[in-house]
Amino acid sequence: MATNGEGKQSQQIKHQEIGHKSLLQSDALYQYILETTVYPREPEPLKELREITAKHPWNIMTTSADEGQFLNLLIKLINAKKTMEIGVYTGYSLLATALALPDDGTILAMDINRENYELGLPVIQKAGVAHKIDFREGPALPVLEKLVEDVKNHGSFDFIFVDADKDNYWNYHGKLIELVKVGGLIGYDNTLWNGSVVAPPDAPLRKYVRYYRDFVLEFNKDIVADPRVEICQLPVGDGITLCRRLK
Ligand code: SAM
Ligand code: CA
Repeated sequence: MATNGEGKQSQQIKHQEIGHKSLLQSDALYQYILETTVYPREPEPLKELREITAKHPWNIMTTSADEGQFLNLLIKLINAKKTMEIGVYTGYSLLATALALPDDGTILAMDINRENYELGLPVIQKAGVAHKIDFREGPALPVLEKLVEDVKNHGSFDFIFVDADKDNYWNYHGKLIELVKVGGLIGYDNTLWNGSVVAPPDAPLRKYVRYYRDFVLEFNKDIVADPRVEICQLPVGDGITLCRRLK
């Protein structure tokens, strides 16, 4: 692998390193988007967090800068105030969300790993948005089950971003559909799962890609059949399926 230098080349290397292989017709086209539209407008704290995350061994998990820009704009467009995130890692999508919310906006953020969240926390604090975040360490499903028990939480979330264990997406959906408001939005991330959704059964896939692939395929089939939501699957990042609650 080439050494990381300054400027263009290092950014190009970085995006390949952290696994955001383009779903577009060429990697150069994706690089064009990053350099022309995304990086010049990336807020300084997000850039700092992206650079910290790039040095972490699990950096393949991070939200890409173009998806961060998309989430930031989307949250503003729908005037979201009360939000939730399942799967934080070092906090790139969390910070993109926190920066987009009004000062009294909130994010209930869940992850089984606090250590990685704490890696990004100083940047979030410096950006002046930490007060919006309620971080809960541990598996998300029990937290959702608890929330659903109280009817006051029903239909109360404007926006929910799901970016954690793919084998639980359908379980999450069962709870989230009650917690999101009618007209509110849930974004399920990685629904194109490294492009593996169209790979032949015997394709040489990395172990974790192969393991979760069937869950992603099943989720994609199930969500399209759910009459409670209208949906749109976008080839941003690794694919994001947006669901707007209808009833
Ligand atoms: N959104 C993050 C970002 O922008 O960097 C990336 C999240 S990463 C792809 C997936 C995260 O889900 C990991 O940090 C992992 O610890 C977390 N996770 C896995 N299983 C979980 C569970 N059952 N409940 C909550 N978080 C979980
Ligand atoms: Ca993701």
